[in-house]
Amino acid sequence: MNTNRPTFARIDLAALEHNYRQIRSRVGPDVKIMAVVKADAYGHGAVPVASVLERLGADSFGVAFCEEGIQLREGGITRPILVLGGIYFGEAAKAHKYGLTPVIASVKAAHDLNYDAERLGLKFKVHLKVDTGMNRIGLTPEEAMPLSLSIVKEMPRLELEGVISHFATVTPDLGDAYWKQLTAFREAVSWMSARGIEPPLRHIANSSACLAAPRPPFNVVRPGILLYGAMPDPSFEGMLDIKPIMSFTTEIFHLKRTPPDSPISYGGTYTTKRPSVIATLPVGYADGLPRVLSNRGHALVRGIKVPIVGNVCMDMTIIDVTDVPNVSLGDQVVFIGAQNGASITAWEMAHACGTIPYEIFCGINHRVSRIYTYGTQAPEQMP
Ligand SMILES: *Cc1c(COP(=O)(O)O)cnc(C)c1O
Repeated sequence: MNTNRPTFARIDLAALEHNYRQIRSRVGPDVKIMAVVKADAYGHGAVPVASVLERLGADSFGVAFCEEGIQLREGGITRPILVLGGIYFGEAAKAHKYGLTPVIASVKAAHDLNYDAERLGLKFKVHLKVDTGMNRIGLTPEEAMPLSLSIVKEMPRLELEGVISHFATVTPDLGDAYWKQLTAFREAVSWMSARGIEPPLRHIANSSACLAAPRPPFNVVRPGILLYGAMPDPSFEGMLDIKPIMSFTTEIFHLKRTPPDSPISYGGTYTTKRPSVIATLPVGYADGLPRVLSNRGHALVRGIKVPIVGNVCMDMTIIDVTDVPNVSLGDQVVFIGAQNGASITAWEMAHACGTIPYEIFCGINHRVSRIYTYGTQAPEQMP
């Protein structure tokens, strides 16, 4: 957003590049990487992120629905784009126009798309979604197997390019749920293979499976959160050298001294315990700083960790900076990121909110200006 308000999400594209290369070396050269860039690349900006990844050799991209794919095409992305959530009835022409590959998650979706394709005189590559234990979307293996056969035999407008499944639970030691899902997927793929159906792209592994599996299963992986520099779960910490890529910062807008017993913000849920220095910041829950951080969250000022006091407001948040020497108007305030050797990670903020970094990143919305850097270089010096 074009504004002088100094509330920023800074995205370090050099760190993104580092994370991509780490994933590439983890999975080896023979496995294709489908970079998951749904939800505006988890809030990092789908087009800038996908452009860097395409240049680095990412094989394809995963989005949630058609418009996310269209946004990538309009931003110049040329590699294959898989619509992970499938397309809606009536979207066939649009999906085709923008070269989007639909996931087929039900028998009806296959028939609908084949019907539309015939009517429009178009052909589609599709990936068949097999539900192996997530119980969200997808065909049961019992439905997927015969459907693969009827796609090949009776739906000439559809080309079965891929089969896809999705893990519900992966732990660093893999665990029973992982093996159960993997086995179900393997059986479905073998069933097809035995009948001469060989979809060239087979994929099930998200970030956690990329980390935990000794070798990535099948020939495509679909990492999301690892690209953005957070572990899918704290239990994976240390399993791959990835770097945070987003920092979320603002500046002190208003500074005042308050006597003891001053109530702060709506409802006065905090009252000062001592003569205090209170700073007001131009960022609030409407920007994606969760209101649940009221009296719970922290920020960095001059490298010192200070508490959020009182309720986070829609556009403003108040912190207690009494313990920060020489605190001044315009000082940078960090909610996620590093400052003077101190740092707050996305996981730390997520823990304080009872959520996961995925939700924190996605929540930082378009009100917040994005700044793209390449390490310490300005973006125009990007290679
Ligand atoms: C979001 C998503 C991913 C990526 O998950 P991460 O945990 O971020 O790696 C992969 N596959 C599907 C189907 C998804 O919806």
